[in-house]
Amino acid sequence: MSLAVSKQSNLFYQSGSRRPLLDKASGIYLWDISGKRYLDGSSGAMVSNIGHSNPNVLAAMQRQMQRATFGYRLHVENEPAEQLASAIAQRMPPKLDRVFFVSGGSEAVESSIKLARQYAIASGQAQRFKIISRFPSYHGSTLGALALTGMSLMSAPFAPMLCDMPKIAAPTTYLDTDNLSEQQRGLRYARLLREEILRQGPETVLAFIMEPVGGASTGALVAPDSYYQEIRRICDEFGVLLIADEVMSGLGRTGRWLAMEHWQVCADIVALSKGFGAGYMPLGAMVARRDLVEAVLGNGGFVHGHTYAGNPLACAAGLAVLEEIERLNLLQAAQQQGARLRAELDGLLHRYPFVGHVRGKGLLLAFELVAERATMEPLPAALNAHTRLVDIAFEKGLIIYSRRTRGGRLGDHFMVCPPLIISDPQIDELMEMLHASLDQFSHEIGM
Ligand code: PLP
Repeated sequence: MSLAVSKQSNLFYQSGSRRPLLDKASGIYLWDISGKRYLDGSSGAMVSNIGHSNPNVLAAMQRQMQRATFGYRLHVENEPAEQLASAIAQRMPPKLDRVFFVSGGSEAVESSIKLARQYAIASGQAQRFKIISRFPSYHGSTLGALALTGMSLMSAPFAPMLCDMPKIAAPTTYLDTDNLSEQQRGLRYARLLREEILRQGPETVLAFIMEPVGGASTGALVAPDSYYQEIRRICDEFGVLLIADEVMSGLGRTGRWLAMEHWQVCADIVALSKGFGAGYMPLGAMVARRDLVEAVLGNGGFVHGHTYAGNPLACAAGLAVLEEIERLNLLQAAQQQGARLRAELDGLLHRYPFVGHVRGKGLLLAFELVAERATMEPLPAALNAHTRLVDIAFEKGLIIYSRRTRGGRLGDHFMVCPPLIISDPQIDELMEMLHASLDQFSHEIGM
């Protein structure tokens, strides 16, 4: 049987590139139809947090499938949605206790924008409509989320956007060469938000959106500790809502339910997805402060919704995923195995001169390749390192996820984010394949 999708395939994706056909998946591994096994070193796109084919999640889905797979929310409520909303609210900071289900990350971000906007109108601040975001960043591929996304690769083909939103620099402090301490740099980057709010006119600014720990756009960028509280303070100073896009960082990947908890900062609205459905069902949520939701509901209601949102099967899967995260102690695992994998990745700095930086939190980790570590000069774009290294690793049976951010100062970066269930020997196996891949890449580029 042929490994590649047939040339006559009616499917199309971004680049037309072809990958082997998936046969089955279990734990941290995938198999293609030739029987070749791959270690899922990026959990897909940082999705399969509890691993593949978890029997308890499959059984919960099976039970729900035999009861009902769908009931439209304007006609009937469903138990799994009710239970999941309360389970999520119990795991969020107390102020965030209103849950609105969607089917993915972009939808969660769109919902957050629309709730914020309707709240401004309901509270007599209709002139507030601007949402400040960061560059680089990724918030989704629908047009609203894309307007907030700072990634020209994704947005340039559509320019001018339906609306352009202001952006401030993401806190890429590791690229800075000034004499400031890390904490001073954190404050300096946070204060870019204050300057931008003043430049835009505070009365027009609705919200600021950020990924607390970056995703693929920045390669797991973490700001200095000082950044987070200062961002919260600035938002409060000007009555600007803080939206945390925790689509990737939320629900355990960094070792906490929300990454923002690492800095004791509570956002006003949080977008969740990826590890929520964890690869079992498309599922996302917007979780918001109760008073925001009540103001909107008291002013005619939230004018938003998607047909499949909160369907019983997706919610039953989500509920079982949460139970597995707790039963298997995966918040702790993300911290412990994250520290172990991080130490291994730090070791790459000693072994390869072209590994420039390692960063991340919990099991949301990445490394960046450079031409020269001292200057953090990116590798020449023509090398296509971000695709080449991924292809070499794939050949060897290791899946990692990469990006090269165009238009920013970042070079080629690679996400190493295996499922949170990864064991010690499996980390060794991952690193063995990563070393072999980097050795081959090193040979190819002569560095
Ligand atoms: N926000 C962040 C931080 C993401 O990483 C992503 C996806 O990578 C999205 C939003 C969009 O999610 P989706 O692809 O499920 O629409």
